[in-house]
Amino acid sequence: MLIADGWEAHEMGRSRGGLPLTVYVPAGTRTVDGLLLAGIHGEEPETLLLARRLLERVDAADAAWAVLPATNPDGLLAGVRQNAAGVDLNRNFPAASWRAEDSFTYPPGAPERRRPHRTNRSSPGGTPGSEPETQALLALIDRLEPDLVVDLHSPLALVAPTPHTDPLVVSRLAEAADLPVRADIGSPTPGALRDWCTDRGLPAITYEVEHAPLPALCARHLPGLEALLRT
Ligand SMILES: [Zn+2]
Repeated sequence: MLIADGWEAHEMGRSRGGLPLTVYVPAGTRTVDGLLLAGIHGEEPETLLLARRLLERVDAADAAWAVLPATNPDGLLAGVRQNAAGVDLNRNFPAASWRAEDSFTYPPGAPERRRPHRTNRSSPGGTPGSEPETQALLALIDRLEPDLVVDLHSPLALVAPTPHTDPLVVSRLAEAADLPVRADIGSPTPGALRDWCTDRGLPAITYEVEHAPLPALCARHLPGLEALLRT
C-alpha cells in the first residue's frame, strides 16, 4: 500500500491483541540507513504523533529510513505502557541484561517520572523475546539491516546513545532540540531494545521528549528528526 509522498506501508506482523504492526519505508527500498520507532510504550502516544508528522513532512525520495510509528498498538489504544499481555515490550528483548523479575517504570526517588496514567510494575514477558511485537521488530531489523536505530520515548528530555553510535549524529540531534546527551536514561533497563542493540554492536539512540503540548513538541523536536531522516 502506498501512502503520501512515496512511503510504502508494510504489515510486519500482528500485536499480541491482533492489531497490525505497520512499518513505512520509501517505496522499493530493501535496506535502510536507519530505523525510527515510536510508541513502544503505550502511555507515550505523543511519540506516535511525532513519527506520523515525520512521515507527512519528509518526502520518501529524500529518506533512506524506515519508520515504525506504533510499535505497541495494544498499549497505545488502551493508554497503558504494556501490550495486551501486560508485558513492557522494552523489557522483553533477548539482551544479556534481560531479567525474569517484574520491571519498574520509575525507580524509588524519581518523582518526576510519576504520572497518573503510568503503571509502575510490568512483566518482562515469560521468556526473552516472548512477545509478537518484539519478534516482529527483531525480524524487521534483520531484514532491513539499519545502521542506526532511534527509539522515541517520553518524558525524560534527553538523548541517550549506545556506545557504538556516531557522536556527530548524536550531537546534531541533541543540539537541534537543545537536549542533553546522557550515557543512559539514569536507571537500569534490563531487556531493553537499546541493550539488545548494544550487545549486537548496532548503534542506537534513545530519544526522550519532555511532557509538553503537541505543538511545542513538534516545534522543538521535528526539525532535528527531519534532518536525520533526510541524511
Ligand atoms: Zn518509554
